Amino acid sequence: MENKLFIYNTLTRKKEEFKPLHAPHVGMYVCGPTVYSDAHLGHTRPAITFDTLYRYLQYLGYKVRYVRNITDVGHLEHDADDGEDKIAKKARLENLEPMEVVQYYTLRYHKEMERLNVLPPSIEPHASGHIIEQIEFVKKILAAGYAYESEGSVYFDVEKYNKKFHYGKLSGRNIDELLETTRTLDGQTEKRRSIDFALWKKASPGHIMHWPSPWSEGFPGWHLECSAMGTKYLGEEFDIHGGGMDLMFPHHECEIAQSCAALGHESVRYWMHNNMITINGQKMGKSLGNFITLEELFTGTHPLLSQPFAPMTIRFFILQAHYRSTVDFSNDALIASEKGLARLMETYERLQKLTASENSTVEVNGLRERCEEAMCDDLNTPIVISHLFDAAKAINTVHDGKGTISAPDLAELKSVFHVFIEDVLGLQTETTNESNEAYKKAIDLLLEIRLQAKQNKDWATSDKIRNELTGLGFNIKDTKDGFEWNL
Ligand code: ZN
Repeated sequence: MENKLFIYNTLTRKKEEFKPLHAPHVGMYVCGPTVYSDAHLGHTRPAITFDTLYRYLQYLGYKVRYVRNITDVGHLEHDADDGEDKIAKKARLENLEPMEVVQYYTLRYHKEMERLNVLPPSIEPHASGHIIEQIEFVKKILAAGYAYESEGSVYFDVEKYNKKFHYGKLSGRNIDELLETTRTLDGQTEKRRSIDFALWKKASPGHIMHWPSPWSEGFPGWHLECSAMGTKYLGEEFDIHGGGMDLMFPHHECEIAQSCAALGHESVRYWMHNNMITINGQKMGKSLGNFITLEELFTGTHPLLSQPFAPMTIRFFILQAHYRSTVDFSNDALIASEKGLARLMETYERLQKLTASENSTVEVNGLRERCEEAMCDDLNTPIVISHLFDAAKAINTVHDGKGTISAPDLAELKSVFHVFIEDVLGLQTETTNESNEAYKKAIDLLLEIRLQAKQNKDWATSDKIRNELTGLGFNIKDTKDGFEWNL
């Protein structure tokens, strides 16, 4: 941990040196998905940004406990206190148990994250599995005097809280403006003020997801789960809390208020937010016809796409921009990323095959330091990528016979490329994917056994291997040197 990592803290609005509370241990919480529909393009940016941070913290030698929750209760449409629970609505429409909806989309989310090479978090708590913790959290806020009960629901008293603490400190919003703009909303007669948000909501008769509590049969407010689960798994104070910029208000602002009210102090040291993705310059939305799911990206089945895009192309596309700048997504931009990634990976493969000479005529010194410096400057992945492309020129010079590289330089270059491409940026190729490699070797082995069987005139074995593999969808071709296959 010789390198000083600087990250931009949304709360203080400046880059700060990262100093964990209990080094080498780091606690990190990231708001995860609400599991009621397929993951879409908007999910990729927080997932990949914080995966890259998780990877880099480990590269620096930290032991990270990474908590990313699954929201499966209390996430209502329209705003946090109003409308129908999205999961319950889906369950009602499809005649399923809400937990069937949750299970189905959680498994699909995991699969898609795996394809994007997003590492699983250390703990993935579900809101529905932490109702007791959330009720206890509400009790603490009530005991501290920052919440009130009203007809079976419990609301956070924003105005009272703001007299001692500062509501709006994260998002920079002004409470007077908020009082003004939220005053006119309808159906909020239970609340003292429209700005107050629900900690616990009494379930209406048709509401299918509800639990007993001291106040009513009901369900927790959305913001509560992150305060309760963050505290449970990372302690009353922890290092990093991340999420998309769209969550800054009200979600994260309310999380801060809840934690300060219940615990008397801030929980989070560094708040980090990734910027959003626009599509052809527009905000992504179902009504705009530009809402693209990951499945559609990977299969190329959306009208805005001309072809399927590999998960690694999406990952590379995201990492080519700094996480705090906006990214505009388009079919052309993805094609450019696909080409760029192919060039980088081709060079990476060439690097493996280079032979060392006595001396180096190409300059490769300092590459590791430059990549580290870029990552330590608030995760500047586009600069890391440009350093790797600079080094790619040297690799290609040696590959083309126009330069030489010494054994120590070659070893260092291989190590830096491996660390930054695979471990830190999390980019894989078919040849660098170990399970893929093992699978190919296993098929080769089977076909070699078949070849031997044929030579021994053991037609039963030879036919069995051929027929079974063909049945699984493999094309097998006998050649004069042996065999070729593909799926
Ligand atoms: Zn959250």
